[in-house]
Amino acid sequence: MSRTTGGASVAWDARYEGAVMDTFGTPQLVLVSGRGSHVVDADGREYLDLLGGIAVNILGQAHPAVVRAVSEQIATLGHVSNFFATPPQVTLAEHLLRIVEPGGAPEGSRVFLANSGTEANECALKIVRAHANAQDTPRPRVLALEHAFHGRSTGALALTWKAKYREPFEPLVPGVEFLPANDIPALEAAMDEGVAGMFVEPVQGEAGVLDLDDDYLHAARELTRSVGALLVADEVQSGLVRTGEWMAHHRSGIVPDLVTLAKGLGGGMPIAACIGLAGAGSVLGPGMHGTTFGGNPVCAAAANAVLDTVESDALLTHAALLGASWRDDLKALGVPGLREVRGRGLLIGLEFEDAIAPDIVSAGRGAGFVLNATSPTTLRLAPPLVLSAAEAATFTDALPALVRTARGEEADPS
Ligand SMILES: *Cc1c(COP(=O)(O)O)cnc(C)c1O
Repeated sequence: MSRTTGGASVAWDARYEGAVMDTFGTPQLVLVSGRGSHVVDADGREYLDLLGGIAVNILGQAHPAVVRAVSEQIATLGHVSNFFATPPQVTLAEHLLRIVEPGGAPEGSRVFLANSGTEANECALKIVRAHANAQDTPRPRVLALEHAFHGRSTGALALTWKAKYREPFEPLVPGVEFLPANDIPALEAAMDEGVAGMFVEPVQGEAGVLDLDDDYLHAARELTRSVGALLVADEVQSGLVRTGEWMAHHRSGIVPDLVTLAKGLGGGMPIAACIGLAGAGSVLGPGMHGTTFGGNPVCAAAANAVLDTVESDALLTHAALLGASWRDDLKALGVPGLREVRGRGLLIGLEFEDAIAPDIVSAGRGAGFVLNATSPTTLRLAPPLVLSAAEAATFTDALPALVRTARGEEADPS
């Protein structure tokens, strides 16, 4: 990537470095505006955004339905705290109960609205613990999967696989054990009545778009139920139409005890949900959990606009069909070293034989694409669900040259 010497981006970079804590490394771009699936940097260059704010901007930038919902709500009633109910909050909780399971959530299901994926998982972990602690025998163990990502608070972080993320902050919440994904015998061996709960991502997003087998999800459901433990489906990234279904776990037909949502929910506004299905909806009582901002009317109004637009614009079908044809087109390119194109809907992983993914990201930036590498060999695409087939095709057409540039076989297009 090159930036115009003395350009606006360079000046912002220097100010960023002087004022913002260094937790994210050097920002890849300074972005100032966007529309649909495109964003524009401080020097006026436009990019096709195939990361979508990390699987967040499902309606893209500046979608009129979100703009209208947020503008009208902030001008009507902004923040009130959870001492009070508001129509957008109640409407959203009801809507989530309709879509969280095919045919609607089971009787007794209830929603807790939070602000981030981390907080939604923290709420689920508290429900798992409270449920376990209300039983007769001790249940100190919580199961999670290798390569899992559940967030960065000390509870959610304890459930997150990467040692690099966890170790500087230990001791974390105790009792978490990691199991290999899709290994049913390992799960059978680990499961007993000392287990309080198990966390799974139906598609592991941060791990590079790794799918859990339907058989494995069924085994997780049956085994947790047989010992009285709760099963949590972390759908923060895989849920809300990302995989071409309302929730990624729907394909398997299992019904978890808890489902957590965040990223796509607010169309860019920070809002999340921890949904307790059936009995898990009433484990928490008054005073046991809380949040100041969670479910605030402005973010809830944005989420309602997102869910309504998904339905009115048939985005479920669009995400499923475009995702399938795009993966086929990417495979058909026969790019040397591109070992696998995987994923579901518009959550796509491209696995390379060599460690060129970060260099493809840089080459992409030079050529007008926002891309993301989840590992040295893996690219993840998680674009807005409003991405058109023509926009997707511009990336397909560009990929062979981006790979050549990444390998130093062709000059950087920037
Ligand atoms: C992003 C993510 C989280 C954390 O969400 P934040 O909003 O960043 O706190 C948790 N789980 C999964 C599966 C995620 O992809």
